[in-house]
Amino acid sequence: MIKSNQNKSALKVQKGIDPPESISPHIKKGLSHSRERYPMNYYTNGILKGDRAILSQSITLIESTLHNDQMLAQNIIEACLPFSGKSLRIGITGVPGVGKSTFIEALGFLLVEKYKKKLAVLAIDPSSARSKGSILGDKTRMEKLSVHSNAFIRPSPSAGSLGGVAQKTRESIILCEAAGYDIIFVETVGVGQSETAVHNMVDFFLLLMLAGAGDELQGIKRGIMEMADTIVINKADGDNIHKAQLAKSQYANALHLFPKPPSDWVTKTTICSAISLTGLEEIWEMILDYQQFTKANSYFIRKREEQNLQTFNSSLEANLLNRFIADKLVQAKRKVLEKQISMQQISPYQAANQLTQIFIEKLKAE
Ligand code: GDP
Repeated sequence: MIKSNQNKSALKVQKGIDPPESISPHIKKGLSHSRERYPMNYYTNGILKGDRAILSQSITLIESTLHNDQMLAQNIIEACLPFSGKSLRIGITGVPGVGKSTFIEALGFLLVEKYKKKLAVLAIDPSSARSKGSILGDKTRMEKLSVHSNAFIRPSPSAGSLGGVAQKTRESIILCEAAGYDIIFVETVGVGQSETAVHNMVDFFLLLMLAGAGDELQGIKRGIMEMADTIVINKADGDNIHKAQLAKSQYANALHLFPKPPSDWVTKTTICSAISLTGLEEIWEMILDYQQFTKANSYFIRKREEQNLQTFNSSLEANLLNRFIADKLVQAKRKVLEKQISMQQISPYQAANQLTQIFIEKLKAE
């Protein structure tokens, strides 16, 4: 499919000619929403063997809204957990147009080709449900990476709340790690809360910026800059190099004013060009420095432990809420109470307490 913003694309494709698939055909096979299901071992054995199609099918189960699929997915995740946790998880954010896809393609290709890494690229895009387009999904980008045997690219799940989508991405990370991917990129659009969600699931958080555009223009909030372990000024090529260097020192100065992060890591600023492929090696070395530094001061492991606790809490809340909402008695009583609230026969607080009590009593009786 030809996208209307061809002039923006990293791919130079003649009008009227279909560009190559953005997702490897092997993976695409796994993306099919076929209802055919196999026993759990089929999925776990496939994942542990590093079979990308089966990994993809398993992530489809994670994303499924069907109860049976979710049960199967939970079992697969549990079986994969002992084999997970060994990757380096890197969050990448920045406003649309900053060059995230191009950067991921460029850095990713360096990692899989030169450093022989196995790289999985996942995404969180809360806007995709609304716009019907998703980052990574329908773009004709990353065409070199997406067909590389050591890379696995998965578009963002296109529906659900940010919390739900984030949970699914966290679970997908586990499966990718069990499949042997030692680097995980999680991409997000720099427009709001999804950065926090991504920051909470990665080890290293990289913020891509442009030179010459004010922070307001780039829609980047101070809080996001504070979360960053590095700020990378992209598009440092051609006439833009000088401006990029200037922006680099401006950001470095601004960062001095921020409180010290809990990692004790001094946030670095750097420049790169995802098109001219400059500055990428330095960025990779910096990420490795960070890993070494935070492993030495135990922050790396502490952060992962905190993230596990956060996952526990959010799963707990989601489980309770799902059980409550799915309960038939609760559903029936809820309708009655909603009517009573609108007729001012009961206060909203009383109604909420009553419904909670009804649910608790029902659980006791079970
Ligand atoms: P995203 O929306 O953040 O994923 O950004 P894209 O990767 O789609 O890039 C947006 C546009 O910027 C595309 O036209 C790219 O070709 C261009 N672009 C990306 N990186 C660079 C770079 O390093 N230098 C230059 N000059 N253009 C770039």
